[in-house]
Amino acid sequence: MLHRKYLFPNVIELNLQAGESFGVNLYLLDGGGEWALIDVGQEDTLDDVIDLIRKLDFPLSKCKMLIATHADVDHVQGLDAARDRLKAKTGAHPDAAKALEAGDTVQTYARITAQNIDMPMPTCKIDVKLNEGDEIKIGKLKLKVWHTPGHTPGQLSFKLGNLLFSGDNIYKDACVGAIDAHHGSHLPSFISSLQRIRDDDAEFLLPSHGPVFRKDPAILQNAIDRLTKYQHMADFGTCLVSWPLEEEWKRDILTGKMPEL
Ligand SMILES: [Zn+2]
Repeated sequence: MLHRKYLFPNVIELNLQAGESFGVNLYLLDGGGEWALIDVGQEDTLDDVIDLIRKLDFPLSKCKMLIATHADVDHVQGLDAARDRLKAKTGAHPDAAKALEAGDTVQTYARITAQNIDMPMPTCKIDVKLNEGDEIKIGKLKLKVWHTPGHTPGQLSFKLGNLLFSGDNIYKDACVGAIDAHHGSHLPSFISSLQRIRDDDAEFLLPSHGPVFRKDPAILQNAIDRLTKYQHMADFGTCLVSWPLEEEWKRDILTGKMPEL
């Protein structure tokens, strides 16, 4: 048996455990007897991930749930294969489930034709639809489900004591998960999700990318302030709420006002 490197009590992050990158963060929750995994990652790393879990002496038959933070290909491409191999239930938000069960290559980011990105996105049945306020029991642990839309409509976060598994909402450098129309990003919801995280009493954030970090309201405020501006900047296309310059332009057109040069 491999020595288990717990990041927090009952929490192992598999990249840190393995000393290698699986692409995205993969959190194993050890409920004693039962365990669960938050995100499984891509198909080509799945063999190594399962092998590692076996070496850590977690019985594969005791997997309570394979949980998807959201339906982006880098987090869930291996979900169907993992469900099949572990005979475990999958869990995701109903909006993520829709994309996963349909194998929607656009919404999952598997296909970005203009950038020659074309990855397989196997369809995957979602056994348990996870909604705001639900509680997932994993042995002795109780994981609270938060619906935190914005990056994608089906983005979930999970609260466990003083820890928040915060998905693609916020990273240590105050960057946020990609804002993209095809993806269903929604700036006002994103801001609300960030405010909720800022105002919560969680002490540590465990994101789906990059390092785990101590929650700092200033990091969240930085992102909130940026996204608040983004809502009114043409840079964000159809994710805009309004574009003041276009309104000004229309007013000028209608009143016959010539540009001030
Ligand atoms: Zn991501």
